[in-house]
Amino acid sequence: MAIKIDLEKAYDKIEWSFIREMLIFFNFPATLIDLIMSCVSSVSTSLLFNGGCLDSFCPSRGIRQGDPLSPYLFILCMEFLGHLIEEKCEANLWSPVRASRSGPSFSHLFFADDLVLFANADQVNCNTIKSVLNDFCLRSGQRVSVAKSRVFFSPNVGPDQRILLSDILGFNSTPNLGKYLGYPLKHAGDRKHDFDFVLDRVKKKLAGWKANLLSMAGRVVLIQASSSTIPSYVMQSHIQGPLPQDSDNMQIKNVLSPTGWNWSNIPFEIPPEVKAEIQAVPVPRVSRCSDKLAWKFSSKGDFDMRSAYLLAIDDTGIGSFSGSWIWKLSSLPRIQLFIWKCMQQSIGVKDCLAKRGIPLDTTCPLCHSEAETILHALRDCNLVRPLWQQLGIHCLYSTFFSQDIRDWLITNGGLKTTQNAAGIPWNVLFSFGLWLIWKQRNQGVFNSKSVNVNLAKVIAAQPLSSSFVPLGLVKTREWCSGK
Ligand SMILES: [Zn+2]
Repeated sequence: MAIKIDLEKAYDKIEWSFIREMLIFFNFPATLIDLIMSCVSSVSTSLLFNGGCLDSFCPSRGIRQGDPLSPYLFILCMEFLGHLIEEKCEANLWSPVRASRSGPSFSHLFFADDLVLFANADQVNCNTIKSVLNDFCLRSGQRVSVAKSRVFFSPNVGPDQRILLSDILGFNSTPNLGKYLGYPLKHAGDRKHDFDFVLDRVKKKLAGWKANLLSMAGRVVLIQASSSTIPSYVMQSHIQGPLPQDSDNMQIKNVLSPTGWNWSNIPFEIPPEVKAEIQAVPVPRVSRCSDKLAWKFSSKGDFDMRSAYLLAIDDTGIGSFSGSWIWKLSSLPRIQLFIWKCMQQSIGVKDCLAKRGIPLDTTCPLCHSEAETILHALRDCNLVRPLWQQLGIHCLYSTFFSQDIRDWLITNGGLKTTQNAAGIPWNVLFSFGLWLIWKQRNQGVFNSKSVNVNLAKVIAAQPLSSSFVPLGLVKTREWCSGK
């Protein structure tokens, strides 16, 4: 069984005499004890009542919330409870539970005032737990909240036994212990809705923002900055391999013998097809380095959440949208988002609008020669082509003007050469080019403004002013100032 204990106002109720006792118990030097106790006990409190300050008074217990010393003192005091529990375990009055037959045994988990106790479900254990808690509360001034504490029984404890044991403990029995440190304590079977709280929490966070007032790029940044940590915290605690504690350091040499693979040394069953695959790998007889654990799905062999997640959702990357490079591009968030939209064919050019069922003439309103596709607007229009040439595309590669939209974006987004008119990485220059060409085009179409003849120089100056380029690399300044 597992018992989740809730302490009532844990900080406020701790007795000063108990703190002193604990400091002595853990062998603190006398001068340090006096110093700590004078910090703790020199508190005076006064109340604001009807706008006036009442006479101050001195409390005789409790430690201050927010005082940097308080958490340490509190942990010391809770350590004493752990000590009481260990004493009982050694006296065989408390039998801790085991995670597996050969796994380690454990009797309690503490994190500040979050306590979970574990023991076998029988009357001796329940009486011991009760007496340990009473003893601790009596000495420390703490009180266990009966209403909020819960006991969880494993499925093989019968209903009569459950009633008897929860009566001894004085806590209600529960089918679900809720969360420990913000992570749901797991019970048999993983159900999707067990993790609804993650979604709820993200939704709540999003609702607090005036998201409608933010630009699309602003929303992406906000989501990345704050909400993405919520699920990764939970998922981090959720990964678990098949090896029990004492065999997670197993090495190839433990399983491989000169005559072949010794499967019985592995504590769980390996599917036959995996065995066949392992047997098919030639094992070098002479090795140059020692065995180590490696994670197959990352290039360095180190475990990472991302590849584990992709593996779990069975995404091998084939046929999926290849746009992750966009978010790594050294550029402004709004430009990254713009490129992403180009990849998704969702820019408001006439061709895209027509494909979505809006009846209109798709001819380019600036050059009147071709249909206005995304590529036309950003690359092929008569007014834009010279710009790319001015920026130095002729030195880069010959298919620049013939690739389709995705290939074009991916190729240029990956080109880091500084062989161009501005002398800065081409992919950075390219991203700013796309964005400024698009803005300029909108000015031309909707406000009838003529094309800025110096646009190429404006483009080249932008990454520099937004500090996306290391200054040493750059000859932009000279170029912009006409040298
Ligand atoms: Zn055009």
